[in-house]
Amino acid sequence: MRKKIVVGNWKMHKSFQEGIDLVNDIISLENIKPSEEVLKIIAPPFTNIAAIANQLKSSSDFAVAAQNCHHESSGAFTGEVSSSMIASCGANYVIIGHSERRHYFGEKNELLAKKINSVLKEKLIPIYCVGEKLEERNSDNHFKIVKQQLEQALFHLLLPEIKNIIIAYEPVWAIGTGITATITQAQEMHAYIRSEINNKYSNKVATELPILYGGSCNASNAKELFACSDIDGGLIGGASLKAEDFITIINSF
Ligand code: PEP
Repeated sequence: MRKKIVVGNWKMHKSFQEGIDLVNDIISLENIKPSEEVLKIIAPPFTNIAAIANQLKSSSDFAVAAQNCHHESSGAFTGEVSSSMIASCGANYVIIGHSERRHYFGEKNELLAKKINSVLKEKLIPIYCVGEKLEERNSDNHFKIVKQQLEQALFHLLLPEIKNIIIAYEPVWAIGTGITATITQAQEMHAYIRSEINNKYSNKVATELPILYGGSCNASNAKELFACSDIDGGLIGGASLKAEDFITIINSF
């Protein structure tokens, strides 16, 4: 059976102390699904990774992710943070290719392939984001775009590597907009991604690979989305900044 996963992407929110307080609020809430049932990941800004990883050490119920990394392990890259630095702070996952990175920072599939390699080299797990823009969906190019994002950033991986990947389907038009993909749209794209993985690798890899949905997923719609046969959880932005909402989403399976 595939892992159920919920990731909270805090983006560029929370001061150092606010981040510590939010984690305290999250872990102090009762009746959270245990890690055997749902893998729970928090992706704070770089400034909070080490402190939150330390804070969660004793609970061992939550893991920590970075939201981005540089593809080199060290060097003269002012302002950047490498996968090996992220690993040394206690995180186990890195979000790669979020649409905000693609859009505001011009990250292309070729660069994202290098970032994925650097993450895997440090034995961390990439959470690779794919998804089409509104005009791409409206012109019926959404499958083509997602296929390219898979082929150009992921499909160079060998069989043992692809097994250590999480994919997040995040239609760009649904991120932070309050417009969620319909159940049909989300399930259809998840099934498509799984079929592409099957074609490239094997049925076993495709069946076992977790694919998360992201894009205005919240405490009210998570249950319906997570009930879809090819949706294994969520990458949650805005709703992960409120402890109660985040826990409601985690408990939506
Ligand atoms: C995200 O940041 O990945 C995201 C899906 O944001 P939101 O949930 O706010 O749409």
